[in-house]
Amino acid sequence: MSMSMKTLVAGAAVAAGLSAATAAPLAEKEAAVIPVLAPWTGPYGGVPPFDKVTVPQLMPGLEIAMAEALAEIDRIAANPAAPTFDNTIAAMERSGRTLDRVITIYGIYSSTLNDEAVQAVEREMAPRLAAFSDQITQNEALFKRIAAVYEARENSGLTPEQQRLVWLQYTDFVRAGAKLGPAEKKQLSQINQQLAALYTKFGQNVLADENDQQIVIDNEAGLAGLPESVRAGAAQVAEARGLEGKWVIANTRSSIEPFLTYSARRDLREQAWRMFVNRGDNGGATDNNAIITEILALRAQRAKLLGYETHAHWRLENTMARNPARAMALMEAVWVPAVARVREEVADMQAIADKEGAGIRIEPWDYRYYAEKVRKAKYDLDETEITPYLQLENLREGMFYMARELFGFNFKPVAPGTVPVYHPDVRVWEVTDPKGNLVGLWYFDPYARKGKRSGAWMNAYRPQERFDGEVKTIVSNNSNFVKGKPGEPVLISWKDAETLFHEFGHALHGLSSNVTYPYLSGTRVARDYVEFPSQLLEHWLSTPEILNRYAIHYQTGKPIPPALVEKIKQADRFNQGFDTVEYLSSALIDMKLHLAGAQAIDPDKFERETLAALGMPPEIVMRHRTPQFNHVFSGDGYSAGYYSYLWSDTLTADAWEAFTEAGGPWDKAVAQRLRDNVFSVGNTVDPADGYRAFRGRDAGIDALMRKRGFPVPAPATGSK
Ligand SMILES: [Zn+2]
Repeated sequence: MSMSMKTLVAGAAVAAGLSAATAAPLAEKEAAVIPVLAPWTGPYGGVPPFDKVTVPQLMPGLEIAMAEALAEIDRIAANPAAPTFDNTIAAMERSGRTLDRVITIYGIYSSTLNDEAVQAVEREMAPRLAAFSDQITQNEALFKRIAAVYEARENSGLTPEQQRLVWLQYTDFVRAGAKLGPAEKKQLSQINQQLAALYTKFGQNVLADENDQQIVIDNEAGLAGLPESVRAGAAQVAEARGLEGKWVIANTRSSIEPFLTYSARRDLREQAWRMFVNRGDNGGATDNNAIITEILALRAQRAKLLGYETHAHWRLENTMARNPARAMALMEAVWVPAVARVREEVADMQAIADKEGAGIRIEPWDYRYYAEKVRKAKYDLDETEITPYLQLENLREGMFYMARELFGFNFKPVAPGTVPVYHPDVRVWEVTDPKGNLVGLWYFDPYARKGKRSGAWMNAYRPQERFDGEVKTIVSNNSNFVKGKPGEPVLISWKDAETLFHEFGHALHGLSSNVTYPYLSGTRVARDYVEFPSQLLEHWLSTPEILNRYAIHYQTGKPIPPALVEKIKQADRFNQGFDTVEYLSSALIDMKLHLAGAQAIDPDKFERETLAALGMPPEIVMRHRTPQFNHVFSGDGYSAGYYSYLWSDTLTADAWEAFTEAGGPWDKAVAQRLRDNVFSVGNTVDPADGYRAFRGRDAGIDALMRKRGFPVPAPATGSK
């Protein structure tokens, strides 16, 4: 998943887009006492001053930077000269630079160093940032100027990129309520502030359940079935939590999923599964159900106020899908064959359980465990056979190889101490092009720790731009691998390796950016398009060039045997029913919740009844149940937008076939077209046009169905 500041800071989307400082008098004066305000200095065009920033600086830093940004905006709005692109749109791109820097660091603390002190800042500042954002979009004099530039955009001698920037700024302002009357504006801003507070509470509740709940194992019998790497990880977690000599399964995806895959203890699997799927749904202080009801009601109210049928209609208007109906049509087309595949998968698993005399009916806490047994039986493939070849650091080198071959990027580690980091686990690489010119920096924060959001994501600390001189980008990849013992390699699962390549795809999207204006830079593209570059790069993991060179056994040093690679390839479409249904049930619930309109919604009941109506297989639970669905309820980001992964995957599958139809994964000409039309253009072109320029046509659904091993629909039904 890509997480930009736009989603980390609820409601601050406009602030994140504001950019470029001419003068920063207010902040400069304060920077000596509050370093978080200071322009970034040091090598590489300046780097975040993590060595000087402290949590107590965050709140005053945000306050001062917001005041400065508002003063800058007021100056633009009050300009006596007639509105032009330069004195209005470009001036906005120049403004808010101090705030951009502070918000970036605040976001890093929120997502990776989230302790009690940071949470207090979040609770205080989230509503105020939302109000700040509204103050800008509701500035009438400013909007009048933007509208004037917008009206004249085709006859002002603007470049295509400038015209698109004007169009996007204008559209974003209108979508945020710039055309409303004063009373409605006030009401809207109140809703946004209420929502921002609720999003913060929602995310903190999920994190609390992840931090505070765990399964402690204190004897060998509790470890039955677990491979050495999982045992070692559990021992490490126990040690970090002061339970030396025991084993702890933390309540996070990176701990729970391997446990459910391997543990032979059905009772413990059920216990772990229940703990994980009930995050945010346990009653008491961290229960999210009432918060969800409130969020949905406020979102429905806001959509009405803005003139949209539902929150989903509002959210999808500026996406590639454009409306909920098109997104639903795609989801429904894939849902039916996916459920049919699940029935086959369950039958295979039940047969094995019966043969073993287990005397059970497959339940959700059995799925991953028995799926492994089926994989072994059907493809003679055992995940524990692969894992010893998947060393985190070697795979990272494999990603660098891919970046060199496809993008011409070279990665060189930055000597420790050259660039400050916010945690000793974080490392930094400098990225250069074939001529040796600096492209940007890549920060890597691989390990799980308390206070770090679960999952994996990319974050751009600074977007590329060349508007007032070339600015090099700084991007980061974050994940939650369980750190092994010092000096021992970290072994990861095949799925985690895919995620690693996925997030690196987002990083390469940011690093490839070649645009003028920061508002259009890198990954700042439509939500249902942004996952396309990242999903596409997952495909390179399984190429022989990567596996033969970088999948090296951690003990023998031997590369992965060709026979094993072949087996991985054969098993490529294995368990696609589970993967698709687990994901798609979440995406469908997300969309249906936001289409349900103004009725008061009881989340548990809605989830139960909607899944029953959909024919949800009882052996699977949603990947993100409603009370823990951070994508959707800890910000607006992916609300009515979780479908985006599937939408992007239609492009991904089709784009991969562009390579396989040509010279294969490393085809230079296809890679060049991909860079020119997708990775480098940011949001300077309409994504549908960019894709067409790359592929020579639109993507249909057929390649997606082939990728997942589902029947390809008869001709003339290729939706989209
Ligand atoms: Zn992603």
